[in-house]
Amino acid sequence: MTSFDLFIIGAGPGGYVAAIKAAKNGLHVAVAEREDVGGTCLNRGCIPTKALLHASELFRSFLTCESFGLCVENPSYDLEKIYAYKEDASCQLRQGVENLLKANGITVYRGSATIHADHKISVESEEGTQWVEATNILIASGSKPAMIPIPGVELQNVLNSDDLLRKPHEGSSLAIIGGGVIGVEFATVFSSLGWEVTILEALPALLANMDKEISQNLKMILKKQGVTSYTGASVTQIAQESGKLVCHFQQKEKPACVRADYVLVAVGRRANTDGLLADDLSLQMDRGKIVIGEHFQTSESGIYAIGDVTGGIQLAHAASAQGMAVADALSGKECSIDLTLVPSCVYTNPEIASVGLTEAQAKEQDIPVRVGKFIMSANGKSLIGREERGFIKLVFHGENDRILGAQLMCARATDMVGQLAMAIANNLDHHQLTKAMAAHPTFYEAINEAAEDAFGGAIHILPKRR
Ligand code: NAD
Repeated sequence: MTSFDLFIIGAGPGGYVAAIKAAKNGLHVAVAEREDVGGTCLNRGCIPTKALLHASELFRSFLTCESFGLCVENPSYDLEKIYAYKEDASCQLRQGVENLLKANGITVYRGSATIHADHKISVESEEGTQWVEATNILIASGSKPAMIPIPGVELQNVLNSDDLLRKPHEGSSLAIIGGGVIGVEFATVFSSLGWEVTILEALPALLANMDKEISQNLKMILKKQGVTSYTGASVTQIAQESGKLVCHFQQKEKPACVRADYVLVAVGRRANTDGLLADDLSLQMDRGKIVIGEHFQTSESGIYAIGDVTGGIQLAHAASAQGMAVADALSGKECSIDLTLVPSCVYTNPEIASVGLTEAQAKEQDIPVRVGKFIMSANGKSLIGREERGFIKLVFHGENDRILGAQLMCARATDMVGQLAMAIANNLDHHQLTKAMAAHPTFYEAINEAAEDAFGGAIHILPKRR
């Protein structure tokens, strides 16, 4: 029986990154994948949605470019071609991952892996069953879209994000159940393509986990982009009437409904553990998720789990960082990444990004804060691009001036948040954060201005009246 130092189940951003890191550390590594390498991120998540967002926002810019002195007559799009472009982006990255796995000497098993007692693993494929064993096993099997248990979810044209990405759907209206990250990103795609889009969110705000101001601004911005959002709206039933789907919901205890060609259910994702464990092995689970302790160890010695399957923060970069940490720990190395600090990015227009503590979270923890804020309408680069209203907010410790958190709602927010994460991870204070000049004209200038504002020194903010 072939034996490995590390056998990884799942070649998504958690699993394939862990595999490469472990191989670089000198371990003999194998990975099993039953679908395409790259997992949800490359094939059904981050990459394809960002490709759709890119194409649809270009289309929206054709409709609004008159204010820049440009004329595009009768702009139109071909959804089949947009989806082909999206697939091409995924395909190129997938090929890159395949090449990296091969070049790092990692054995890839194509099939469904099941863990048995005594660290034995079977991998089932059309060619039959292969058996291997491994000193350590890492479960990185990801997640899949969750559905809600309401009447009508089984109807045709009630879709999840996998269905919506698999092939183009011809239509002109979409109702989205769930105003979380998936909901608002798909709302941005389809409203940019001219569809009538409605979001139904059960909680009182869209992106309820984000800074309150971001949620409030987003609702208004989406409205301007043609998206209707109902918050505090709990969907009770989906029905079919005269060729349309009808979403029935309760808002403030009053019944209401929305009609659409399609309904997207975007109410979260659940751990993917189908066929993972044989009858002779059990792991401690919590509501379908694998329970992990320190260093990503499951209840079984030598078996680890990372990423979405553990039900923590379901983000590709969090899974990758966790995978690298496990690979380093198994090689006797210390991981240099701060796993507690996870930037989160939402690719609406404008983009949204957040890292560290919000002002409200800091206050909840009785941490004294100083908050600086810069409105992007005073930033040259934003003004040139006629960007939507947005802001950058920085949260500093009120006593030692260290940066604790950042919330951004502006163009390039998802790129700029990296520098702020770096500042927080390294405990930089206000003085260190503003030591380097910001180039002009850039969006980044607004970060220095927000930092200065926390200490009353922003140049492009009118002084408060004395
Ligand atoms: P989510 O948890 O972010 O949002 C789901 C929303 O659905 C919640 O706000 C919830 O209140 C609402 N909801 C649940 N039941 C409802 C009902 N019956 N009626 C109305 N609303 C209801 O989940 P998601 O948007 O599905 O995303 C899944 C995961 O994928 C998240 O962890 C997310 O962070 C991740 N993701 C990240 C990105 C990114 O980083 N840009 C993009 C897509 C997804």
